[in-house]
Amino acid sequence: MLDAVVVGAGPNGLTAAVELARRGLTVEVFEAADAIGGGARTEELTLPGFRHDPCSAVHPLAVRSPAFAAMPLDRHGLRWLHPGLPMAHPFPDGTAAVLSRRVGETAASLGPRDAGAYRRLVAPFHGKWDTLAADFLRTQWDGLPADPVTYARFGLVAAQSAALLTRTRFRDAKARALFAGLAAHGIAPLGGFGLGGMAMMFALAAHECGWPVPRGGSQAIADALASYLRELGGTIHTGFEVKHLDDLPPARAFVFDTSPTALARIAGLGNAYEHFRYGPGVFKIDYALDGPVPWTAEPARRAGTIHIGPTYEEIGAALDAATAGHDPSVPFLITSQPGVVDPTRAPEGKHTFWVYGHVPSAWEGDATEVIERQIERFAPGFRDRVLARATAGPPELAARNPNYIGGDIATGSVAGLRLLIRPKLARVPYATAHPAVFLCSSATPPGPGVHGMSGHHAAKAVWRRLREA
Ligand SMILES: Cc1cc2nc3c(=O)[nH]c(=O)nc-3n(C[C@H](O)[C@H](O)[C@H](O)COP(=O)(O)OP(=O)(O)OC[C@H]3O[C@@H](n4cnc5c(N)ncnc54)[C@H](O)[C@@H]3O)c2cc1C
Repeated sequence: MLDAVVVGAGPNGLTAAVELARRGLTVEVFEAADAIGGGARTEELTLPGFRHDPCSAVHPLAVRSPAFAAMPLDRHGLRWLHPGLPMAHPFPDGTAAVLSRRVGETAASLGPRDAGAYRRLVAPFHGKWDTLAADFLRTQWDGLPADPVTYARFGLVAAQSAALLTRTRFRDAKARALFAGLAAHGIAPLGGFGLGGMAMMFALAAHECGWPVPRGGSQAIADALASYLRELGGTIHTGFEVKHLDDLPPARAFVFDTSPTALARIAGLGNAYEHFRYGPGVFKIDYALDGPVPWTAEPARRAGTIHIGPTYEEIGAALDAATAGHDPSVPFLITSQPGVVDPTRAPEGKHTFWVYGHVPSAWEGDATEVIERQIERFAPGFRDRVLARATAGPPELAARNPNYIGGDIATGSVAGLRLLIRPKLARVPYATAHPAVFLCSSATPPGPGVHGMSGHHAAKAVWRRLREA
């Protein structure tokens, strides 16, 4: 009898496995795909020598995640590379707002009328990333915050919608667009609860931790976790899709890095998660380019991540359209160019480029044309540099990873209170009605992103249960 079996080798499944193995438990991981990593993979999707990240690429939440910080991942090959600028947000006039490691550079890029407001907004939280991350990347009602004053102060900002935050704090278009772009990582309308907090977390992360990429691609995160797990005595099986609990060896605990829907089906939990909602999808393109992206705005040429959406209104409209089920016409784009800092990703002089825009859930259309038209507004001549492209809409994303239901890369809507209450309201959201079955995927708090914190908290819940048994 094993102590624990983990279903799914994404960042959360691997983190849970590591944390249980580190406590001396016997652990085996079963992964459906032929390779480990889930949303932290790197593959030659286009041409030989071009190494693309099909899912996550940029890691503001991983680099100083409390879970990863407690593991010797550098010894297992993980090396963070920081681009000259974490993020640039170009405008049609050739200028750009930037997220810099330095607050002053970001403030200056927003123009004289908003520079002071930006400084005042981030100042109370600057230098406090480690307690902020520990206090917010968890179930909010599980225990007392480490720094209650900062927690309460940040909570007052974080609870606001991006709409309210930008309206009350900023006067000009650049700051409003920058914040809308950061909030758009939540893939929900900008008027919704808590997206101001998401924007703030990403801005603070840029100043405190950077927005780095792992050398060699996101696979390096999964590979480092797996290598550490094996060192601790854990075992990983790939190419093993779990369809029923009986497929698995006997164990004292079963930890699922899956969607709640799949968990209920596999573990026979009936309609336990029937009220769980999935969000809109994304349309992803990976490009092989014969040179760097020809951005008009100079800061965009130095940044690892570039947001494309010239105004708050345009970004808001793109998110509203995806949520309401309308075809994308002028999408908001999140893009990444790892080649500015990582030469291992493409043959010499060539680059990989990673882009996604939001589309309705399960959308079956092709967004290539609207996405490239949008890129050309800010990088004229982009299309001439394309050597090859690999596209993936919701059906392809869901086929690649069953957690992305309808192309929802967050494994569950974050609209309204769903970022806090996921998969449903419970004191310990990682536990289920079956005493030996647990959920550890990004469908649990603190939600999407490569940070391993859902796996970390789920492992704690498993550990407590096994100790009581
Ligand atoms: C296009 C895209 C871009 C993204 N960009 C970023 C980014 O830049 N930065 C960031 O931090 N995050 C990003 N994300 C989100 C991030 O990848 C996820 O939030 C994260 O990977 C979630 O980790 P997880 O371990 O919960 O699940 P996953 O990474 O989805 O892993 C789940 C694993 O479980 C396996 N599995 C599922 N069902 C079964 C089964 N029945 N049997 C066996 N195995 C099973 C899957 O194959 C998968 O390997 C992006 C995601 C996508 C798709």
